[in-house]
Amino acid sequence: MKRFFVISLLFIILLSVLIGNISFAKEDPVLFFQGQMRQGELLFGFVTPGSELTVNDERIAIRPDGWFAFGIGRDDTGILTFKATKRGKTTTSSYNIAPRQWDIQRVDGLPQNTVTPSKTGQKRIADEAAITAQARQKKVDMSLPLCFSLPAEGTITGVFGSQRIMNNVPGNYHNAVDIANKEGTPIIAPADGIVLLAYEDMLLSGKTLLIGHGQDVVSSYIHMNEISVKEGQKVKKGQEIGKIGMTGRATGPHLHWGISWKNKRTDPMAFLENSQKFCPVSQNEKTSEKERGGL
Ligand SMILES: [Zn+2]
Repeated sequence: MKRFFVISLLFIILLSVLIGNISFAKEDPVLFFQGQMRQGELLFGFVTPGSELTVNDERIAIRPDGWFAFGIGRDDTGILTFKATKRGKTTTSSYNIAPRQWDIQRVDGLPQNTVTPSKTGQKRIADEAAITAQARQKKVDMSLPLCFSLPAEGTITGVFGSQRIMNNVPGNYHNAVDIANKEGTPIIAPADGIVLLAYEDMLLSGKTLLIGHGQDVVSSYIHMNEISVKEGQKVKKGQEIGKIGMTGRATGPHLHWGISWKNKRTDPMAFLENSQKFCPVSQNEKTSEKERGGL
């Protein structure tokens, strides 16, 4: 009798595992986004773990638990088609990129050699841009942290995306957020990461730092007064990485803080908002005090 009971129990377990697998295999992968499908946005997304995910046929890196980041360039337009595939089942969703209005910002009083640089200056700017671009390509083997916070206290004096007119010359759009505070104000890592570049003297950006966070997300820090971490070093969220300064092309002390995904510059403030949605409650409480003071 006892033997019969054990065999029936095993049979029931086997049957439920089989049914479970069959029903699981029949389900299409889940695909979910936190954020808006608009220009300059860095969104968080979720897909059934173990799925393959592409956007317009380009592969997206996913954390083992299914979370991923996805960025839209400031001037991107058109349709984004996401395809998530698992065990032969595919979920497809398409979105139209919503346009955004961008500010125009005049910046005067910049050293003229940084606005219309000499031949030597141009060469140096190109070389330094290549060094930065190369550092951005480095692969970071870690799961993207889901909870980012502001890297410094201060006043937001420049927003992402504005068209800049520098000493009356139209320049590139502003690809980051500016946080102004006095020289020497500490800058902290907004999330865990690995230092991709720590460069002491760039013509335009002065002391320059890049941190890779995984899933193709990189944060950048320029015009620093001091860099206190080294290339290849692992940094922890909240750890001091340097101090606010005005090295390179700057009219006053501030941190120029950028967030990129692959080769796309995205809006750090929109990313912070999307990121905060995933912060565990305890981390939210810890950072909210700082952010209230900062803004
Ligand atoms: Zn800036």
